Amino acid sequence: MSHAATTVSVELLKKYDRPGPRYTSYPTVPVWTESIGFDDYARSLEQASMRRDEPLAIYCHIPFCTHRCYYCGCNTVVTNNQDRIRRYVETLSREIDNVVRIIGRHRPVSQLHFGGGTPLFLDTAGMTEVLNFITSRFTFQTNHEQSIELDPRVTKREQLEALRHIGFNRVSFGVQDFDADVQKAVGRIQPFDMVAEVLKQSRSLGFRGINADLIYGLPLQKVESFSHTLDQIVSLRPDRLAVYSFAYLPKSLAHQNRIDPEDLPTTDVKYRLFATAIEKLTAAGYLQIGMDHFALPDDELAVAQRDGRLFRNFMGYTVQQAPEMIGFGMSAIGYIDNTFFQSHSKLDSYGNAIAERGLAIYRGMRLGQDDLIRQYVITQLMCNFTLSYQSLQDRFGVDYFGYFANEHQALESFVDDGLLTRGDAGLHISTIGRTFVRNIAMTFDTYLNGKQAEKTVTFSRTI
Ligand code: SF4
Repeated sequence: MSHAATTVSVELLKKYDRPGPRYTSYPTVPVWTESIGFDDYARSLEQASMRRDEPLAIYCHIPFCTHRCYYCGCNTVVTNNQDRIRRYVETLSREIDNVVRIIGRHRPVSQLHFGGGTPLFLDTAGMTEVLNFITSRFTFQTNHEQSIELDPRVTKREQLEALRHIGFNRVSFGVQDFDADVQKAVGRIQPFDMVAEVLKQSRSLGFRGINADLIYGLPLQKVESFSHTLDQIVSLRPDRLAVYSFAYLPKSLAHQNRIDPEDLPTTDVKYRLFATAIEKLTAAGYLQIGMDHFALPDDELAVAQRDGRLFRNFMGYTVQQAPEMIGFGMSAIGYIDNTFFQSHSKLDSYGNAIAERGLAIYRGMRLGQDDLIRQYVITQLMCNFTLSYQSLQDRFGVDYFGYFANEHQALESFVDDGLLTRGDAGLHISTIGRTFVRNIAMTFDTYLNGKQAEKTVTFSRTI
């Protein structure tokens, strides 16, 4: 294909569908190593305590679920054992206190996010206690963002009220698909009316930036039925929508064996499902703010993107610039002092590490100058769909054409397909190109294109 594209066609999706990172971090997790550990983390936290006025982001992982949805790709623990959960909460509290002891309470927190699992796994009293404990340990910036992932099946109005009372102002719901057969095939039953009710309650309680997640590529999904799901979700007008590709990995995720592979849509149908989502959501007034993220034009993510001040971290897109982030809980990821840190991803090893040493870091990566330059380029492309050559010069003293001569050349096919323009002042991704922003970003990923490429084999496909 050498002509400029004007719509996201199945041919274009097919052409650019390949394994690739989502770039919630650069360098990506598969190239991190276990040479980074406890001592590095303690030192970096000490350094971070000296940057007194810089905003900080916090992520907290609550890994429990009562049942496993068959499509799940999260790091979750299936249990009903309340003692086990209580022990986890105690360990988490200890970790938070140990970190706060080093970094202090003075840095203003601009973003706090609870993810899972199902963070509302605890009853209202238990949940309030945990959330109050955490929020009492930090100082929050005015207008900070406090968000939580919710499961419509277990979310009660009293919990939403308690969350608002504690200071939460953003919620995100897992929806996936409204079709009854699809819901049965993935072991997650939540009819339209149930989702409509929690969304309505959230809005009436004053939550903003309300997000709903959909997934395409699930068993029994058809273009017609998914199209109906899209109409239904659009009728509820969430401020944001994420439309993720289902990654079927039964060899590494045993619970996915409950999905009959015969029921999965063919690759062509999967492309059509995604093309339908883009078409329907943009026709309904949503703006595409990332490959698989959409927002209403007056949502703060869309406004920030228009102004070139959107950011991205492990929690997704955000308007809060917090260059450093602390992760709490099993498998949580943080970024401090230009270094990524990740905690143990199994419940026992996380608990043992906290009991023995007080912190649970087991791997990470310290970024060099080339990593920081590429991280900046990839973030600009992923968030703001543009890269200014001058900003690269101002920030790093780097001449784009000298530094990225090979990459610039490799962008040719995106230019031919109308996905990107290479102007005198910078790169600009077109409206159609937004769907392929991961592919464009991959051009600048030295670990995919260089000598370490063989290490990065575990990514899902870009479409
Ligand atoms: S609720 Fe979410 S984290 Fe829990 S099993 Fe289902 S998809 Fe996985």
